Amino acid sequence: MNYRFYNANIYLPNEIIKGEVWVENNIIKYVGEPKKSNITFDREIDVENNLLMPGLIDMHAHCGMTYIRGGCDDATLEDWLYDYVMPIEANMTYEDYYWSNLQTLKEFVRGGVTCCLDMYFDMKARYDSFVKSGFRYCATSGYKNFENDFSTYKQSDMFKIFIDLHSVYTTDEEEIKEVVRLSRKYNTRITVHTSETLTEVGECQTKHNMTPIAYLNDFGFFSQPTICAHCVFLDDSDIEIIKENNITVASNPASNLKLGSGIANLYNLQKQGVNITLGTDSAGSNNRLDMFNEMYLASVLQKGNLHETTALSSSSVVKMATINSAKALGYDNLGEIKEGYLADLILLNIKEPNYQPWNNLRQSLIYSVNSKDVYLTMVNGKILYENGIYYLSEDADKITENFVRCNEKLLNFKK
Ligand SMILES: [Zn+2]
Repeated sequence: MNYRFYNANIYLPNEIIKGEVWVENNIIKYVGEPKKSNITFDREIDVENNLLMPGLIDMHAHCGMTYIRGGCDDATLEDWLYDYVMPIEANMTYEDYYWSNLQTLKEFVRGGVTCCLDMYFDMKARYDSFVKSGFRYCATSGYKNFENDFSTYKQSDMFKIFIDLHSVYTTDEEEIKEVVRLSRKYNTRITVHTSETLTEVGECQTKHNMTPIAYLNDFGFFSQPTICAHCVFLDDSDIEIIKENNITVASNPASNLKLGSGIANLYNLQKQGVNITLGTDSAGSNNRLDMFNEMYLASVLQKGNLHETTALSSSSVVKMATINSAKALGYDNLGEIKEGYLADLILLNIKEPNYQPWNNLRQSLIYSVNSKDVYLTMVNGKILYENGIYYLSEDADKITENFVRCNEKLLNFKK
C-alpha cells in the first residue's frame, strides 16, 4: 500500500514543518512541501493539521507479564515476586503467552508504540503474536534457549533476536561467561537489568567488592553493544564504563517509582553523552505500558529532583524514545520521519483541548500529550491502529476475551 499524508504538521528532530509525507510500501519516500507525485497512492489521508511523528520505541518490556497488572499492587517486592509473579509465571503455557502478547500489543499500538525490546519467554508465542501482526519486534532470549531461537527464526528488520542476562543478582559466573561467549559467537546485542535498587548494588558490593556494572565489565560483558535497563544507582566509575563501551541506558521512570527503587540521574548521563532510551518495564510494575507517560516522567522527575528546570527538554526526550532507541537496536534507518527511512509513524490529534494554544509544540509536546490522542499507528507502512480499530493478526475483542480467560486460569496458581 502507498499512502499520502497531507495537511500535516510533521515532527522532525529540530523543527515541526507543515507539509506532506509519502509512504511507498514500507519506506518513507518524501517529506516536505506539497508537490506533484509519480507514486500511485492507494490512500490519501488529510491530516487536518494534526501532528505526524515517528513511532515510539519501548526499550524495556516484559510483554508476557501483562497478567500481573493490578493483581498485587502496594505490596512488598518480596510478596509481589514470590507469592504472585513467580507462581503464575511457573504455570504459563503457549496460549497464555500468546494472548498476553497480543493484549500488550493492543496497548502498544493504541499508545503510539511501533517497536519494542521484549525480555520474556516462549519464542514461538512471541513470533506468532508480534511478528504475525506486523509489529517491529526485538526479542531477547536467555542463554539456554538463545542458540535454538536464533537458528530457528529468520531475522529481519521486523524481527531481531538478542541475548539477555536477567541480572547479576539472579545469575552466576558460568552463566555470565556463557552469555558473553554466545553474544560474541553470534555477534548479537545484549540486554541486562542492572543497578536497579540499592539492595542489588549493596549485595554485589558485599559479594564481589564491585558494583554490578564493574562486575559485568570484568567478564568482558560489554564487548558487544549492550542495553542496560534501569541504571538507577551508578557511581562515577560505572558511568566511565558506560561511556567507554557505548552502553545504552534504558530507563524506566514509572516502574522505578512504583517499586520504590528511586530516580535515575538521566540529566547527568545526558550531559556526559550517554545514549539514553526509555521503557515501560512490565504491566506488573508500572502498570501502564504508556511511553508518553514515561517520556513525561523522565523529564519532570529530573527537573523536580535536581531543581533544574532546563533538564531533559521535551525534544531531547522525544529523541530518547525514537532515534536513540532505533540506534541502540541496530537500525540506521528508523526513528525519524525522513526520506528512505522505515515507515513507522503515528498521528496525534492535537486538536484536543490539552494542546491549545499551539505555542511552540516542539518545546511543549511531552508536557501536553496524552497517549489517548494517538489517532493512527503505522508500522513498516502498514496501519495497525486507526481511530478505535485495530488491524492485528487476531480480532481485537477476541484478544481481550482470551486474555481475560487465561488470566482467570492463572489466578488459581497464586499463593
Ligand atoms: Zn525488567
